[in-house]
Amino acid sequence: MIKYILKCVNKHEFESWFSDSKEFDRLKNKNLIECIFCQTKKVEKSIMAPSVANSKLHNKQKQISNLKMKNFKKDLLKLRKFVENNFEYVEQNFANKVREVYYDRNSKKNIYGKATQYEKEELKEEGIDLVNIPWVDKEN
Ligand SMILES: [Zn+2]
Repeated sequence: MIKYILKCVNKHEFESWFSDSKEFDRLKNKNLIECIFCQTKKVEKSIMAPSVANSKLHNKQKQISNLKMKNFKKDLLKLRKFVENNFEYVEQNFANKVREVYYDRNSKKNIYGKATQYEKEELKEEGIDLVNIPWVDKEN
């Protein structure tokens, strides 16, 4: 069985199944094929991409997005390294430490740590915007 997308002169498109690729021509020569919408007999086959080509294309797309992911990850790792080298990690009371740094005008300290959504919102209300950094593992 083979599936064709058929198109009539009035641009109606519909799918139809044939036992093989020659059956369409055979039926068309006998004027047995007509548009299911307007019943015209002026119907042509639309070109259909074989499913093999589709899956190849799909794999290619996958490869490309994996590649992009890799570069993206590299960038994130660079970012992580930069933060680790230039920022001080605050394990506990991060939100309070952020306030300390923020309100101390002489402080040039850069800190990083984890904040809950609630803490983030609280800080934001005080005018302190935190930057979210996607933290990627160095492994894998
Ligand atoms: Zn039609």
